[in-house]
Amino acid sequence: MKKDYYEILGVNKSASADEIKKAYRKKAIEFHPDKNPGDKAAEEKFKEAAEAYEILSDANKKARYDQYGHAAFDGAGGFGGGHHMNMDDIFSQFGDIFGSAFGGSFGGFGGNSGGPRRAKGSNLRIKVKLTLDEIANGVEKKVKVKRKVQAAGVKYRTCPTCNGQGQVLKVTNTILGRMQTATTCHVCGGSGQIIESKPNNADAFGMVLEDETVSIKIPAGVVDGMQLKVSGKGNDAPGNSIPGDLIVAIEEQEHEFLKREGENLHYDLYISVAEAALGVSKEIETVNGKVRIKLDEGIQSGKILRLKGKGIPSLNSYGSGDLLVHINVWTPKKLTKEQRQFFENNLNDENFIPHPEKTDKSFFEKVKDMFS
Ligand code: ZN
Repeated sequence: MKKDYYEILGVNKSASADEIKKAYRKKAIEFHPDKNPGDKAAEEKFKEAAEAYEILSDANKKARYDQYGHAAFDGAGGFGGGHHMNMDDIFSQFGDIFGSAFGGSFGGFGGNSGGPRRAKGSNLRIKVKLTLDEIANGVEKKVKVKRKVQAAGVKYRTCPTCNGQGQVLKVTNTILGRMQTATTCHVCGGSGQIIESKPNNADAFGMVLEDETVSIKIPAGVVDGMQLKVSGKGNDAPGNSIPGDLIVAIEEQEHEFLKREGENLHYDLYISVAEAALGVSKEIETVNGKVRIKLDEGIQSGKILRLKGKGIPSLNSYGSGDLLVHINVWTPKKLTKEQRQFFENNLNDENFIPHPEKTDKSFFEKVKDMFS
């Protein structure tokens, strides 16, 4: 009778993909053939775990297994009842499984680069919420991150299997001749280093989690969704490695009054009919405090006043956008008897009859912005 895949990995059915991965990683390290030379039982367990992981790490196969058990893979086209993965399959899986522990990207193998290559730690990602004021002026944020770092006292030595190269060459004979392929070294997982000694609090790779406060300088003009990179503040990798990066995703918080459109800002200003007719001075919210603007008597609803340079600074060049103030004249929804009488008296008055002129347009440029 075949053992339950969840049992093999020691997780329950509700385990997340991450938990399954972690569980497999633990088993793979525990029963690794290099750690248990000649131990057939360990090798069998190593293969069992790999097979369980092969199924449970694939959403489709996992769903089938959850519904039908091992029978799901008995039929044609499936795995076949007696399926066991061979060692090469298992080790080719390792790049995925151990990759992140050892830094994820092993780019730049290049055959003639010479000397042991340095693994890079994985990146960390965080989100930083910024107000529009912070975006307009630039800001320095302190964030707490949990970084994987090498434990104090851990000692690594060069992996004897790959001589620190992190990869091994495999020669196979094909109809096209001898082919040489490089695969990630399964002993060190590609880091080129193995552990000589480590303190008890460290994980299997000699790493511990450490809290660190990182200061991030955010330039003015960033945009929602933008990602900034803080070099070297991601996870460390084992051995003689370079740390990954901290990737900071910008999240822009909505402003109570200002709407952003690229580098320009929009502000909706409501004034009364009386204020529009008589002229008025109003305070406007900007990203640099309040600004007082003067509206001439007779200002029309729908006018847009442009406050030059009062928008968001450009991230890549000099200058800033503008703040566009949209004038909305508020028509009273209710009137007293006297007010009604007043409007009725003026219904056909020449001054109350609309007659827009072309010159109204030049009004845009005539706006004065007076700063308080
Ligand atoms: Zn190695």
